[in-house]
Amino acid sequence: MRDMGFLVVLSGFAGSGKGTIMKELLSRYPEEYALSVSATTRTPRPGEQEGREYFFKTKEEFERMIAGGELLEYACYVGNYYGTPRAYVEEQLAGSRSVILEIEIQGALQIREKFPETVLLFVTPPSAGVLRERLIGRGTETSEVVHSRLSRAVEEADGCEAYDYLIINDDLDACVEEVHHIIRSERSRMRHHLREIETIKNDLKEYVKGEQI
Ligand code: 5GP
Repeated sequence: MRDMGFLVVLSGFAGSGKGTIMKELLSRYPEEYALSVSATTRTPRPGEQEGREYFFKTKEEFERMIAGGELLEYACYVGNYYGTPRAYVEEQLAGSRSVILEIEIQGALQIREKFPETVLLFVTPPSAGVLRERLIGRGTETSEVVHSRLSRAVEEADGCEAYDYLIINDDLDACVEEVHHIIRSERSRMRHHLREIETIKNDLKEYVKGEQI
C-alpha cells in the first residue's frame, strides 16, 4: 500500500558483491523489486547479454541518448559511459515496485538531486584487503583494469558519506535480508503514505457519520 514506486540506489566498490546482492534480492522478492538495466559503452564480458546486464551502445549511440534526454543520469567510469534509461524507471515509478539502480556515485548524486526521496545504499567488503583479493580473484580483468578500479575505489570511498546506509558484505544471505529490510522500512515512512492515510481518515469520518445517535 503506497502512493507510487520507490527509487533505491545501490552503489559500492567494484568487487563489493553489490551485483550479487541485487540479483538475489530480485530472485527472492520478484514482486517487490524491478531492476533498471543501464546503457553502457563498455564491451560485454563473457556471459553478458544485451538487454539483461546492459544495453551495449557505441559512443555515438550513447551520446545521441544524452542529447535526446533519454538518460536520467550518466557518468564516465574507467573510460566508458554508463547511464540509466529514463523511460523504464519512469514507467516503474508509476507502479508499486521498488526500482533498483545499481550505479556509481556520480550518477547516484544526480539521481538524489532529481528524486530527493531516493534511498542510497553503499556496499563494501569488510576490509580493503578483502576487496583487493576479490578484484584479483575475479580473474576477468587485466592488471591495468584492476589497478584503475582500485584507484577508483579510493575516490569512491571519499564520496560514500553522502549515502544513507553502509552495507558491510561479509555474509551474502544476511546482507540481502538487511537490504530488503532497510528498503521496506524506508518505504513505510509516513511521508510516503499521505494519500493512503488521508483515505483512512476520511473513511473513518464517514463511519462516524453513519453511527450518529
Ligand atoms: P561494470 O563495468 O563493472 O559492470 O560497472 C562499472 C560501474 O558502473 C559500477 O560501479 C556500476 O555500478 C556502474 N554503473 C552501471 N550502470 C550505471 C549507470 O547506469 N549509471 C552510472 N552512473 N553508473 C553505472
